[in-house]
Amino acid sequence: MRLDIIRADTVDRIKAATRETLQARYNDLLPGDLDTRVLIKPNLNSYMNALTGNTTDLRLMAAVIELLKDAGYSDITIAEGTNSGFYRNNISVIKRLAVDKLAGYYGVNVKDLNYSEPVEVGFEGGVKAGVARECMEAGLFINMPKLKTHFEAGMSVCLKNLMGCLVGQVNKKKTHQSLWANIVNLNAAIRPHLHIVDGIVAMEGLGPTRGTPIKTSAVLLGTDPFVTDLVCSRLAGLDHNNVGPLRVAIQRGLLDKQRLEFAMGFPLERVFGFKPPKAGLLASFIHNPKRQRHFIAIRNTAVFRYLASTQLGGTLLYKSGLRQDVFIQEEMQCRGLTLDPSTCNNCGRCADYCPIDLPLPQALSAQDPRCIRCLYCYCVCPTGAIAFEGTLGFMAEQNAQYETIIKGIS
Ligand code: SF4
Ligand code: SF4
Repeated sequence: MRLDIIRADTVDRIKAATRETLQARYNDLLPGDLDTRVLIKPNLNSYMNALTGNTTDLRLMAAVIELLKDAGYSDITIAEGTNSGFYRNNISVIKRLAVDKLAGYYGVNVKDLNYSEPVEVGFEGGVKAGVARECMEAGLFINMPKLKTHFEAGMSVCLKNLMGCLVGQVNKKKTHQSLWANIVNLNAAIRPHLHIVDGIVAMEGLGPTRGTPIKTSAVLLGTDPFVTDLVCSRLAGLDHNNVGPLRVAIQRGLLDKQRLEFAMGFPLERVFGFKPPKAGLLASFIHNPKRQRHFIAIRNTAVFRYLASTQLGGTLLYKSGLRQDVFIQEEMQCRGLTLDPSTCNNCGRCADYCPIDLPLPQALSAQDPRCIRCLYCYCVCPTGAIAFEGTLGFMAEQNAQYETIIKGIS
């Protein structure tokens, strides 16, 4: 059982500290066979970028990929079964978050696990659910969740992130028949070798997609998902008894005395006071584990599915708090980012956030073709010196909700 916490909030520090810690403490987990299949599983819960606290930071993914490439691994895949609502609406969050471009930049593969071959695993009540074969058979599986609150599970970190290994909506729906227990069941069936938690910008409040970003600058590395999640709850200042999968894990003895003592005694430099994920009355009533299965039965009827797919139905679900996501269809079309030297104060913040270390802000003037259009620099620039050329599309909504907060915490 191993666990480490590093503090990092700039791309240089994230890459250096992650590399140092992995090499010093986890090197034995790297397989000797350099042709083995390496799977990196981030959390790409929606198309809200990492700076909102919702999805895994591209800078941390880049840190891990660079280390693996330098070690000589030839078969690296970033894989995620994207959130089922986006999948149903034919929206690729992998593309919208520029994960495909990051993969292209490093010459690694990217895979949407919604289209993988399923392998059956056991859920509550004898139900069988299909998880992607890649997740069961990887020679090295690195789970890279985001640290965030979650209104149904309490928190979403290592344990919950494995829901993205399920193939397609038909299998993801089965989890909700008994959400907490089935998350634990998933973790009994799928065993990542290493967990690297992105808490650099985490989310508090009504997560996973309607909360508020909170900067902790923490990256947690660990080998045990239960212990790592429990330490994450302590770091966030959230009672682990309110984190459903951890409660089930304790009841089932998976978080045994030794693990509990290790996690509860793990030294923390700082404890944050995350606002808990308090849902509205209607959502809390429906998502209560005692009632949820009955409402799921209603949700699965053809009539409900049709109503929910209409714009009015979707808006009503969002406004009532029963749906967290808005499925904006309009893509972002970025023709380029340009620098206004007259408003740039050379603070260097844009460079701290560029996942691929472009020499910013100068590279903006040169329209560097290596830019993966993640827009991190644009989001954090405090003076608005970086201009976006093109159509913001779905990014306009993110800007409206989070622009001020992101600039404030960056
Ligand atoms: S973040 Fe903005 S103001 Fe700061 S160096 Fe970059 S472009 Fe200039
Ligand atoms: S220059 Fe900006 S948009 Fe391009 S990769 Fe770097 S941070 Fe992302």
